[in-house]
Amino acid sequence: MSEHAFATRAIHAGQAPDPTTGSIIPPIYQASTHVQDGIGGFRDGYEYNRAGNPTRSSLETQLAALEGGSAALSFASGLSAEDALLRGILKPGDHVVLGNDVYGGTYRLFARVFASWGVETTTVEMSDADQLRAAIRPETRIVWVETPSNPLLKIVDIAAVAEIVHAAGAIVVVDNTFASPALQQPLSLGADLVVHSTTKYLGGHSDVLGGAVVFGDDRFIEQVKFQQFAVGAVSAPFDAWLTTRGIKTLAVRVRQHSENAQAIAEWAAGRPEFATVYYPGLASHPGHDIAAAQMSGFGGMLSLGLSAGAGAARAFAESTELFQLAESLGGVESLIGYPPDMTHASVRGTALAVPENVVRLSVGIEGVDDLIADLEQGLARL
Ligand SMILES: *Cc1c(COP(=O)(O)O)cnc(C)c1O
Repeated sequence: MSEHAFATRAIHAGQAPDPTTGSIIPPIYQASTHVQDGIGGFRDGYEYNRAGNPTRSSLETQLAALEGGSAALSFASGLSAEDALLRGILKPGDHVVLGNDVYGGTYRLFARVFASWGVETTTVEMSDADQLRAAIRPETRIVWVETPSNPLLKIVDIAAVAEIVHAAGAIVVVDNTFASPALQQPLSLGADLVVHSTTKYLGGHSDVLGGAVVFGDDRFIEQVKFQQFAVGAVSAPFDAWLTTRGIKTLAVRVRQHSENAQAIAEWAAGRPEFATVYYPGLASHPGHDIAAAQMSGFGGMLSLGLSAGAGAARAFAESTELFQLAESLGGVESLIGYPPDMTHASVRGTALAVPENVVRLSVGIEGVDDLIADLEQGLARL
Protein backbone atom coordinates (compact mmCIF):
# COMPACT_ATOMS: atom_id res chain seq x y z
CA MET A 1 0.00 0.00 0.00
CA SER A 2 2.99 2.29 0.50
CA GLU A 3 2.72 3.79 -2.99
CA HIS A 4 -0.84 4.95 -2.38
CA ALA A 5 -2.02 8.32 -1.06
CA PHE A 6 -2.57 8.71 2.69
CA ALA A 7 -6.37 8.73 2.38
CA THR A 8 -6.26 5.51 0.33
CA ARG A 9 -4.02 3.75 2.84
CA ALA A 10 -6.28 4.86 5.71
CA ILE A 11 -9.23 3.12 4.05
CA HIS A 12 -7.63 -0.01 2.58
CA ALA A 13 -4.52 -1.03 4.56
CA GLY A 14 -5.29 -4.16 6.56
CA GLN A 15 -8.93 -4.05 5.44
CA ALA A 16 -9.26 -6.80 2.83
CA PRO A 17 -12.82 -8.23 2.67
CA ASP A 18 -13.58 -11.39 4.63
CA PRO A 19 -12.39 -14.26 2.38
CA THR A 20 -15.20 -16.66 3.35
CA THR A 21 -18.28 -14.42 3.04
CA GLY A 22 -17.06 -11.43 1.03
CA SER A 23 -18.19 -9.11 3.85
CA ILE A 24 -16.64 -5.80 2.76
CA ILE A 25 -15.79 -5.00 6.36
CA PRO A 26 -13.57 -7.61 8.04
CA PRO A 27 -15.52 -9.10 10.95
CA ILE A 28 -14.89 -8.35 14.60
CA TYR A 29 -13.15 -11.44 15.93
CA GLN A 30 -14.70 -11.30 19.38
CA ALA A 31 -12.87 -14.35 20.74
CA SER A 32 -10.40 -15.01 23.53
CA THR A 33 -8.76 -18.05 21.96
CA HIS A 34 -8.34 -19.93 18.67
CA VAL A 35 -8.82 -23.63 17.96
CA GLN A 36 -5.60 -25.47 17.04
CA ASP A 37 -5.32 -28.04 14.25
CA GLY A 38 -3.39 -30.47 16.43
CA ILE A 39 -1.12 -29.22 19.22
CA GLY A 40 0.69 -26.10 18.04
CA GLY A 41 -1.22 -26.06 14.74
CA PHE A 42 -2.17 -22.38 14.83
CA ARG A 43 -4.27 -21.00 11.99
CA ASP A 44 -2.58 -17.88 10.63
CA GLY A 45 -0.45 -17.81 13.80
CA TYR A 46 -3.37 -17.03 16.12
CA GLU A 47 -3.34 -18.74 19.50
CA TYR A 48 -4.71 -16.59 22.34
CA ASN A 49 -6.03 -13.02 22.35
CA ARG A 50 -3.27 -11.51 24.50
CA ALA A 51 -0.72 -12.72 21.93
CA GLY A 52 -2.70 -11.76 18.85
CA ASN A 53 -6.20 -11.20 17.49
CA PRO A 54 -7.17 -10.76 13.82
CA THR A 55 -9.15 -7.54 14.43
CA ARG A 56 -6.21 -6.06 16.30
CA SER A 57 -3.88 -7.21 13.50
CA SER A 58 -6.01 -5.33 10.95
CA LEU A 59 -5.70 -2.15 12.99
CA GLU A 60 -1.95 -2.65 13.44
CA THR A 61 -1.45 -3.02 9.69
CA GLN A 62 -3.51 0.13 9.13
CA LEU A 63 -1.55 2.09 11.78
CA ALA A 64 1.83 1.11 10.31
CA ALA A 65 0.65 2.16 6.84
CA LEU A 66 -0.52 5.57 8.12
CA GLU A 67 2.86 6.42 9.64
CA GLY A 68 4.99 4.75 6.97
CA GLY A 69 6.30 2.35 9.63
CA SER A 70 7.49 -1.24 9.37
CA ALA A 71 5.01 -2.44 12.03
CA ALA A 72 2.69 -1.19 14.77
CA LEU A 73 1.28 -2.54 18.04
CA SER A 74 -2.13 -1.59 19.37
CA PHE A 75 -2.79 -1.12 23.09
CA ALA A 76 -5.65 -0.50 25.51
CA SER A 77 -4.64 3.15 25.99
CA GLY A 78 -2.02 5.66 24.91
CA LEU A 79 -0.29 5.41 28.27
CA SER A 80 -0.14 1.60 28.21
CA ALA A 81 1.50 1.88 24.77
CA GLU A 82 4.08 4.30 26.23
CA ASP A 83 4.62 2.01 29.21
CA ALA A 84 5.29 -1.07 27.04
CA LEU A 85 7.64 0.90 24.80
CA LEU A 86 9.61 2.21 27.77
CA ARG A 87 9.82 -1.12 29.60
CA GLY A 88 10.86 -2.78 26.36
CA ILE A 89 13.72 -0.37 25.71
CA LEU A 90 14.92 1.08 29.04
CA LYS A 91 16.83 -0.49 31.89
CA PRO A 92 17.64 0.89 35.36
CA GLY A 93 20.28 3.63 35.14
CA ASP A 94 19.09 4.88 31.76
CA HIS A 95 18.24 8.55 31.26
CA VAL A 96 15.46 10.16 29.24
CA VAL A 97 15.12 13.75 28.02
CA LEU A 98 11.56 15.09 27.84
CA GLY A 99 10.12 18.27 26.40
CA ASN A 100 9.04 20.63 29.19
CA ASP A 101 5.41 20.53 28.09
CA VAL A 102 4.79 16.87 27.32
CA TYR A 103 1.38 15.41 28.06
CA GLY A 104 0.82 15.43 31.84
CA GLY A 105 0.22 11.68 31.97
CA THR A 106 3.51 11.03 30.18
CA TYR A 107 5.33 13.20 32.68
CA ARG A 108 3.57 11.36 35.53
CA LEU A 109 4.60 7.99 34.06
CA PHE A 110 8.25 9.05 34.17
CA ALA A 111 8.13 10.98 37.46
CA ARG A 112 6.02 8.56 39.50
CA VAL A 113 6.43 5.15 37.87
CA PHE A 114 9.76 4.91 36.02
CA ALA A 115 11.63 7.01 38.58
CA SER A 116 11.16 4.20 41.12
CA TRP A 117 12.66 1.78 38.60
CA GLY A 118 15.85 3.82 38.40
CA VAL A 119 15.17 5.75 35.20
CA GLU A 120 16.14 9.41 35.44
CA THR A 121 14.55 12.19 33.41
CA THR A 122 15.50 15.76 32.51
CA THR A 123 12.98 18.20 31.04
CA VAL A 124 14.13 20.79 28.51
CA GLU A 125 12.75 23.38 26.14
CA MET A 126 12.90 20.97 23.20
CA SER A 127 12.93 23.72 20.57
CA ASP A 128 16.24 25.00 22.04
CA ALA A 129 19.04 22.88 20.53
CA ASP A 130 21.61 24.05 23.10
CA GLN A 131 19.39 23.01 26.01
CA LEU A 132 18.84 19.63 24.38
CA ARG A 133 22.58 19.09 23.75
CA ALA A 134 23.39 20.09 27.34
CA ALA A 135 20.83 17.64 28.76
CA ILE A 136 22.08 14.59 26.87
CA ARG A 137 24.40 12.32 28.91
CA PRO A 138 26.20 9.08 28.09
CA GLU A 139 23.26 7.21 29.72
CA THR A 140 20.63 9.02 27.64
CA ARG A 141 18.66 6.39 25.77
CA ILE A 142 15.51 8.21 24.65
CA VAL A 143 14.58 11.78 23.74
CA TRP A 144 10.79 12.21 23.91
CA VAL A 145 9.23 14.80 21.63
CA GLU A 146 5.68 16.13 21.36
CA THR A 147 4.91 18.55 18.57
CA PRO A 148 2.61 20.44 18.50
CA SER A 149 2.73 20.32 22.28
CA ASN A 150 -0.09 20.26 24.77
CA PRO A 151 -1.56 22.74 25.59
CA LEU A 152 0.72 25.55 24.37
CA LEU A 153 1.13 24.25 20.80
CA LYS A 154 4.89 24.68 20.77
CA ILE A 155 6.59 23.34 17.66
CA VAL A 156 9.76 21.24 17.62
CA ASP A 157 11.83 20.67 14.48
CA ILE A 158 11.82 16.85 14.44
CA ALA A 159 14.59 16.46 11.84
CA ALA A 160 16.90 18.83 13.73
CA VAL A 161 16.30 17.02 17.03
CA ALA A 162 16.83 13.62 15.39
CA GLU A 163 20.21 14.73 14.07
CA ILE A 164 21.42 15.85 17.51
CA VAL A 165 20.04 12.79 19.28
CA HIS A 166 21.37 10.24 16.80
CA ALA A 167 24.82 11.83 16.93
CA ALA A 168 24.74 11.16 20.67
CA GLY A 169 23.71 7.51 20.17
CA ALA A 170 20.16 7.86 21.56
CA ILE A 171 16.77 7.45 19.91
CA VAL A 172 13.86 9.81 19.24
CA VAL A 173 10.29 8.94 20.18
CA VAL A 174 7.58 11.28 18.89
CA ASP A 175 4.13 11.39 20.46
CA ASN A 176 2.19 12.21 17.30
CA THR A 177 -1.24 12.37 18.94
CA PHE A 178 -1.88 16.08 18.39
CA ALA A 179 -0.92 16.24 14.72
CA SER A 180 -2.07 12.75 13.71
CA PRO A 181 -0.35 11.05 10.77
CA ALA A 182 -2.70 12.92 8.44
CA LEU A 183 -0.62 16.06 9.08
CA GLN A 184 2.80 14.84 10.19
CA GLN A 185 4.76 11.62 9.76
CA PRO A 186 7.70 11.71 12.20
CA LEU A 187 9.38 8.52 10.94
CA SER A 188 9.97 10.23 7.60
CA LEU A 189 11.61 13.14 9.50
CA GLY A 190 14.08 10.88 11.31
CA ALA A 191 12.18 9.73 14.42
CA ASP A 192 12.81 6.12 15.46
CA LEU A 193 9.42 5.40 17.02
CA VAL A 194 6.00 7.03 17.12
CA VAL A 195 3.41 6.71 19.86
CA HIS A 196 -0.27 7.62 19.75
CA SER A 197 -3.19 7.99 21.98
CA THR A 198 -5.61 6.61 19.37
CA THR A 199 -8.32 7.79 21.77
CA LYS A 200 -7.96 11.20 20.10
CA TYR A 201 -7.89 11.95 16.33
CA LEU A 202 -7.40 8.38 15.11
CA GLY A 203 -10.53 7.06 16.83
CA GLY A 204 -11.99 10.50 16.29
CA HIS A 205 -15.46 10.02 17.79
CA SER A 206 -14.85 10.10 21.56
CA ASP A 207 -16.12 6.54 21.91
CA VAL A 208 -13.00 4.44 22.46
CA LEU A 209 -9.74 4.44 24.43
CA GLY A 210 -6.59 3.14 22.75
CA GLY A 211 -2.93 3.61 22.03
CA ALA A 212 -0.25 2.55 19.58
CA VAL A 213 3.47 2.21 19.08
CA VAL A 214 4.65 2.48 15.45
CA PHE A 215 8.14 1.23 14.55
CA GLY A 216 10.35 2.82 11.92
CA ASP A 217 12.33 -0.41 11.49
CA ASP A 218 12.76 -3.79 13.17
CA ARG A 219 15.16 -2.82 15.99
CA PHE A 220 12.66 -2.64 18.86
CA ILE A 221 9.65 -4.66 17.76
CA GLU A 222 10.42 -7.92 19.52
CA GLN A 223 11.12 -6.39 22.93
CA VAL A 224 8.04 -4.13 22.91
CA LYS A 225 5.83 -6.90 21.58
CA PHE A 226 7.12 -9.11 24.37
CA GLN A 227 6.00 -6.51 26.95
CA GLN A 228 2.59 -6.39 25.31
CA PHE A 229 2.32 -10.19 25.41
CA ALA A 230 3.76 -10.56 28.91
CA VAL A 231 1.53 -7.91 30.48
CA GLY A 232 -1.51 -7.83 28.23
CA ALA A 233 -2.56 -4.19 27.84
CA VAL A 234 -3.93 -5.03 24.39
CA SER A 235 -6.86 -3.33 22.71
CA ALA A 236 -10.04 -5.37 22.89
CA PRO A 237 -11.41 -6.55 19.51
CA PHE A 238 -14.37 -4.18 19.51
CA ASP A 239 -12.17 -1.24 20.51
CA ALA A 240 -9.70 -2.10 17.75
CA TRP A 241 -12.59 -2.27 15.26
CA LEU A 242 -13.98 1.11 16.34
CA THR A 243 -10.54 2.65 15.95
CA THR A 244 -10.14 1.16 12.48
CA ARG A 245 -13.55 2.55 11.55
CA GLY A 246 -12.57 6.00 12.79
CA ILE A 247 -9.26 6.00 10.91
CA LYS A 248 -10.99 5.56 7.55
CA THR A 249 -12.28 9.16 7.72
CA LEU A 250 -9.16 10.64 9.34
CA ALA A 251 -7.97 12.60 6.30
CA VAL A 252 -11.25 14.46 5.74
CA ARG A 253 -11.89 14.99 9.43
CA VAL A 254 -8.47 16.48 10.09
CA ARG A 255 -8.79 18.78 7.08
CA GLN A 256 -12.02 20.18 8.54
CA HIS A 257 -10.62 20.34 12.10
CA SER A 258 -7.72 22.41 10.74
CA GLU A 259 -9.93 24.71 8.68
CA ASN A 260 -12.24 25.40 11.64
CA ALA A 261 -9.35 25.94 14.05
CA GLN A 262 -7.65 28.37 11.67
CA ALA A 263 -10.87 30.42 11.39
CA ILE A 264 -11.27 30.48 15.17
CA ALA A 265 -7.61 31.42 15.72
CA GLU A 266 -7.95 34.34 13.30
CA TRP A 267 -11.20 35.45 14.97
CA ALA A 268 -9.61 35.22 18.44
CA ALA A 269 -6.49 37.12 17.36
CA GLY A 270 -8.73 40.13 16.71
CA ARG A 271 -10.47 40.04 20.11
CA PRO A 272 -9.13 42.11 23.03
CA GLU A 273 -10.44 39.51 25.51
CA PHE A 274 -7.57 37.22 24.44
CA ALA A 275 -4.03 38.25 25.31
CA THR A 276 -2.49 35.27 23.52
CA VAL A 277 -3.66 32.90 20.80
CA TYR A 278 -1.60 29.73 20.69
CA TYR A 279 -2.06 28.28 17.20
CA PRO A 280 0.75 27.29 14.80
CA GLY A 281 -1.34 28.30 11.79
CA LEU A 282 -0.99 31.98 12.71
CA ALA A 283 2.01 33.66 11.06
CA SER A 284 2.73 35.30 14.44
CA HIS A 285 3.26 31.90 16.14
CA PRO A 286 7.00 31.37 16.88
CA GLY A 287 6.90 27.85 15.39
CA HIS A 288 4.84 28.75 12.33
CA ASP A 289 7.59 28.29 9.72
CA ILE A 290 8.77 24.95 11.09
CA ALA A 291 5.17 23.73 11.37
CA ALA A 292 4.50 24.81 7.79
CA ALA A 293 7.55 22.82 6.66
CA GLN A 294 7.04 19.58 8.60
CA MET A 295 3.22 19.43 8.72
CA SER A 296 0.67 19.45 5.92
CA GLY A 297 -1.83 21.43 8.02
CA PHE A 298 -1.94 23.00 11.48
CA GLY A 299 -4.50 20.80 13.24
CA GLY A 300 -7.56 21.27 15.36
CA MET A 301 -6.01 22.18 18.72
CA LEU A 302 -5.65 25.73 19.92
CA SER A 303 -5.29 27.48 23.25
CA LEU A 304 -6.33 30.96 24.32
CA GLY A 305 -4.84 33.12 27.08
CA LEU A 306 -7.54 35.32 28.60
CA SER A 307 -6.48 38.96 29.09
CA ALA A 308 -8.45 39.16 32.34
CA GLY A 309 -6.53 36.25 33.93
CA ALA A 310 -7.28 32.97 35.65
CA GLY A 311 -10.78 33.81 36.90
CA ALA A 312 -11.91 34.81 33.41
CA ALA A 313 -10.37 31.66 31.93
CA ARG A 314 -12.24 29.41 34.35
CA ALA A 315 -15.51 31.28 33.78
CA PHE A 316 -15.07 31.17 29.99
CA ALA A 317 -14.47 27.40 30.07
CA GLU A 318 -17.79 27.04 31.91
CA SER A 319 -19.80 29.40 29.70
CA THR A 320 -19.73 27.80 26.25
CA GLU A 321 -22.40 25.38 25.06
CA LEU A 322 -21.32 23.73 21.80
CA PHE A 323 -17.79 23.62 23.21
CA GLN A 324 -18.49 21.11 25.97
CA LEU A 325 -16.40 21.13 29.11
CA ALA A 326 -14.46 17.87 29.09
CA GLU A 327 -10.98 16.37 29.05
CA SER A 328 -9.69 14.66 25.89
CA LEU A 329 -9.53 15.96 22.33
CA GLY A 330 -9.65 14.97 18.70
CA GLY A 331 -13.32 13.98 18.45
CA VAL A 332 -15.78 15.37 15.91
CA GLU A 333 -17.44 17.41 18.69
CA SER A 334 -15.79 20.55 20.06
CA LEU A 335 -14.45 20.51 23.60
CA ILE A 336 -13.13 23.18 25.94
CA GLY A 337 -10.91 22.59 28.95
CA TYR A 338 -9.09 24.47 31.67
CA PRO A 339 -5.68 22.69 31.66
CA PRO A 340 -4.37 23.88 35.05
CA ASP A 341 -7.23 22.06 36.83
CA MET A 342 -8.02 19.37 34.27
CA THR A 343 -5.56 17.76 31.83
CA HIS A 344 -2.52 19.32 33.50
CA ALA A 345 -3.53 19.13 37.16
CA SER A 346 -0.77 16.53 37.70
CA VAL A 347 1.97 19.02 36.71
CA ARG A 348 0.73 21.99 38.72
CA GLY A 349 3.59 23.49 40.71
CA THR A 350 6.23 21.72 38.58
CA ALA A 351 8.38 23.08 35.75
CA LEU A 352 5.66 21.88 33.39
CA ALA A 353 2.83 23.99 34.88
CA VAL A 354 0.51 25.72 32.39
CA PRO A 355 -0.22 29.48 32.67
CA GLU A 356 -3.34 29.96 34.79
CA ASN A 357 -5.11 32.15 32.20
CA VAL A 358 -5.17 29.47 29.48
CA VAL A 359 -8.15 27.55 28.12
CA ARG A 360 -7.67 24.80 25.56
CA LEU A 361 -10.01 24.15 22.65
CA SER A 362 -10.33 20.93 20.70
CA VAL A 363 -12.06 22.37 17.67
CA GLY A 364 -14.56 19.91 16.22
CA ILE A 365 -16.02 19.69 12.74
CA GLU A 366 -19.34 21.42 13.41
CA GLY A 367 -20.29 24.50 11.38
CA VAL A 368 -17.58 27.03 12.17
CA ASP A 369 -19.98 29.99 12.34
CA ASP A 370 -21.88 28.17 15.09
CA LEU A 371 -18.63 27.56 16.95
CA ILE A 372 -17.57 31.22 16.75
CA ALA A 373 -21.05 32.35 17.82
CA ASP A 374 -20.77 30.00 20.81
CA LEU A 375 -17.41 31.50 21.82
CA GLU A 376 -18.87 35.01 21.39
CA GLN A 377 -21.82 34.27 23.67
CA GLY A 378 -19.35 32.77 26.17
CA LEU A 379 -17.32 35.99 26.17
CA ALA A 380 -20.52 38.04 26.56
CA ARG A 381 -21.31 36.11 29.75
CA LEU A 382 -17.97 36.95 31.43
C1 LIG B 1 -4.35 11.55 25.74
C2 LIG B 1 -2.91 11.61 25.45
C3 LIG B 1 -2.05 10.58 25.87
C4 LIG B 1 -2.52 9.42 26.73
O1 LIG B 1 -3.40 8.59 26.04
P1 LIG B 1 -4.57 7.75 26.74
O2 LIG B 1 -5.24 7.10 25.58
O3 LIG B 1 -5.44 8.73 27.47
O4 LIG B 1 -3.92 6.79 27.67
C5 LIG B 1 -0.72 10.67 25.51
N1 LIG B 1 -0.24 11.71 24.79
C6 LIG B 1 -1.03 12.71 24.39
C7 LIG B 1 -0.44 13.84 23.61
C8 LIG B 1 -2.39 12.70 24.70
O5 LIG B 1 -3.17 13.71 24.31
